[in-house]
Amino acid sequence: MTTQGKAFVVCGPTAVGKGTVLSEVLQRDSHLWYSVSATTRPPRPGEVDGVHYYFVSPEEFDDLVANDGMLEWAVVHKIHRYGTPRKPVEEAMAGGFNVILEVDLDGARQVRKAMPEAQQIFIAPPSWDELEHRLRGRGTEGEEEQERRLQTACVELAAQDEFDVIVVNDTVANATESLLKILGSSAV
Ligand code: 5GP
Repeated sequence: MTTQGKAFVVCGPTAVGKGTVLSEVLQRDSHLWYSVSATTRPPRPGEVDGVHYYFVSPEEFDDLVANDGMLEWAVVHKIHRYGTPRKPVEEAMAGGFNVILEVDLDGARQVRKAMPEAQQIFIAPPSWDELEHRLRGRGTEGEEEQERRLQTACVELAAQDEFDVIVVNDTVANATESLLKILGSSAV
């Protein structure tokens, strides 16, 4: 019989580099399974439906929630909804994969209740200045959106002690190694 996989929650503020670190981690270990979230946010240039997110309409999102199809969901940065479709996560775990759920603080709190056994990991920046620098530097958001994201980041950083473990993303290589160790990966 296949051993049930484990769930890991990964949370961290905007522009901390979660995406880059997670894509390194996933490349290194094929036994990890990344949960693709559903969102009502429109795709950014280069984003692919079903790969980066499932881009859904507000009505489709409502349906998923109403049919208990979301493990958790939240309004992020005060505008768009993001959620973790429940079924694929349960199937991947039943298939023996260790599952990564990349969610915001609200989502992490919901998963803590729904799946208390899931390990909760927070990715932190080396400093506030560095976070601001990374966000402004990537230039994918306008001024207003940057400010909104920095406000959310402030709240998220204040809650980092709620997490089981904190990984500081000083360099992608360091953070990738730390994360692989925490995930119990054989790729370390
Ligand atoms: P972005 O719009 O930059 O792709 O994502 C914004 C934030 O949404 C991410 O930093 C992440 O914390 C959050 N997020 C992404 N997927 C989910 C999800 O499935 N559930 C929740 N609660 N938050 C998510």
